[in-house]
Amino acid sequence: MSATATRHDWTLADVRALFELPFNDLLFQAQTVHRQHFDPNRVQVSTLLSIKTGACPEDCKYCPQSGHYNTGLDKEKLMEVEKVLKAAEEAKAIGSTRFCMGAAWKHPSAKDMPYVLQMVKGVKALGLETCMTLGKLDREQTQALAEAGLDYYNHNLDTSPEYYGNIITTRTYADRLETLSYVRDAGMKICSGGILGMGESVDDRAGLLIQLANLPEHPESVPINMLVKVKGTPLAEEKDVDPFDFIRTLAVARIMMPKSHVRLSAGREQMNEQMQSLAFFAGANSIFYGEKLLTTGNPQAEKDMLLFKRLGIKPEEREEHDDEVHQAAIEQALIEQKNSALFYDAASA
Ligand code: SF4
Repeated sequence: MSATATRHDWTLADVRALFELPFNDLLFQAQTVHRQHFDPNRVQVSTLLSIKTGACPEDCKYCPQSGHYNTGLDKEKLMEVEKVLKAAEEAKAIGSTRFCMGAAWKHPSAKDMPYVLQMVKGVKALGLETCMTLGKLDREQTQALAEAGLDYYNHNLDTSPEYYGNIITTRTYADRLETLSYVRDAGMKICSGGILGMGESVDDRAGLLIQLANLPEHPESVPINMLVKVKGTPLAEEKDVDPFDFIRTLAVARIMMPKSHVRLSAGREQMNEQMQSLAFFAGANSIFYGEKLLTTGNPQAEKDMLLFKRLGIKPEEREEHDDEVHQAAIEQALIEQKNSALFYDAASA
């Protein structure tokens, strides 16, 4: 078997064997595969906006937005279309190429769909790629989103089918797979991944990646999240994931889905710069950027660009104009670093 072949028939034994490789051998293999399909010094950047926050009827044990847990999160109704478009304009101005809109819903209601479709059309008209995560979809909703111009639909599988019931009881794994199949049938791209650090075993991590890699087509985007432990959620006291196990999982994902963008996703704020750079070496080539407040002075975004510069990484799909915007952000961040000795701050958040 060639390490670089695009396969859809992964077995647990195959994937266990990858997880059991010595760390350096695994990373070498992942980096070799990565270089066959991608420029190793390019990372795709997306911006994420919550368009409807909190009071979600689902009971995902990791999620502060679930209405089942008291996390003190401020609930917000569906955001006005104009505000969403303004945020998208700001995301574009700081260099994002994809704008992801997330709503804490079990599924979109008939009442909300027209607004959601207006958001897709408006963001698309700004020249950005569009992505949404709205929960379970039926065929008609999926088709309407595709016709409005939605490029990507995010719908995570979260973990293995075997472990899923420990994390979520209000929907089934089969529901998730059904929505993913509707998205594919409607011609949209899939963003689907999972979360590490929820008490799952290595076999569960393997099981998640097998589900994703054995889909008829690999998801174009595979977010691998590190659990962010939020007080009030049932997983608030979970044990930390060993950082090397996290990197291993990214590397295995890269080998199994060689042409997909593997996204270093939630939890990145808790990773120091060394760990993030190791993640890029393992094959991660996508991040969320400026995901909290979309203002041009977003310090996290500037810090990300500074890390890219130190690593010689350039954002993917960047126009000349955007490079200039990033250059200005980097220069500003360098000035601030000199003032605050930020270089010596191990925490990259
Ligand atoms: S469906 Fe999404 S928003 Fe709702 S509880 Fe689960 S992860 Fe949170």
